[in-house]
Amino acid sequence: MKKIAVVGAGIGGVLSAAFFRKKGYHVDVFEKSNNLGGCSGSFVKNRRIYNAGATTFAGIKEGYLIHKMLDQLNITNDFEILQEAMIIHIGDKRIVRHMDLERTIEEINKAYPSKKTRTFLERSKGYNGVFLEGQYTSF
Ligand SMILES: Cc1cc2nc3c(=O)[nH]c(=O)nc-3n(C[C@H](O)[C@H](O)[C@H](O)COP(=O)(O)OP(=O)(O)OC[C@H]3O[C@@H](n4cnc5c(N)ncnc54)[C@H](O)[C@@H]3O)c2cc1C
Repeated sequence: MKKIAVVGAGIGGVLSAAFFRKKGYHVDVFEKSNNLGGCSGSFVKNRRIYNAGATTFAGIKEGYLIHKMLDQLNITNDFEILQEAMIIHIGDKRIVRHMDLERTIEEINKAYPSKKTRTFLERSKGYNGVFLEGQYTSF
């Protein structure tokens, strides 16, 4: 059996390893840190769990790239889709980031009224394809 070495157990390394494994390779993953996940991992401090970086998972709607990848690995049923991905507190302002783009725009406009919010988010959506339009998940 061919052997594959994957360096780094971030989302990129872990998914690559899973695909190689699916193709029948023997895979060893080498990770320098004590935790899995890299920038999309988590850590515990004072008995609370914090995201190391990535908080939302865009592009997970059916038909989108991430969904297709997870589907091939048979893990699309292992997560819960959240309608409200996060609540952002800035001073006395509170913004809920919804899965639904319109509701997110309303939230931002309530806290920071500006016609540019919609233009910015719609342009970003066009640019990235899945930005703010994917679904947010919690594993
Ligand atoms: C603050 C922050 C917020 C983010 N928010 C989002 C978000 O909301 N949604 C989103 O989709 N993306 C977000 N991202 C981006 C996303 O986290 C990254 O694009 C993604 O996690 C990168 O994955 P990766 O596997 O390519 O790299 P990494 O996660 O960087 O993984 C690399 C791994 O390799 C290991 N490594 C490095 N060198 C070695 C070595 N020599 N030997 C062994 N192991 C090694 C590292 O320890 C690490 O575990 C965010 C990033 C940051 C920093």
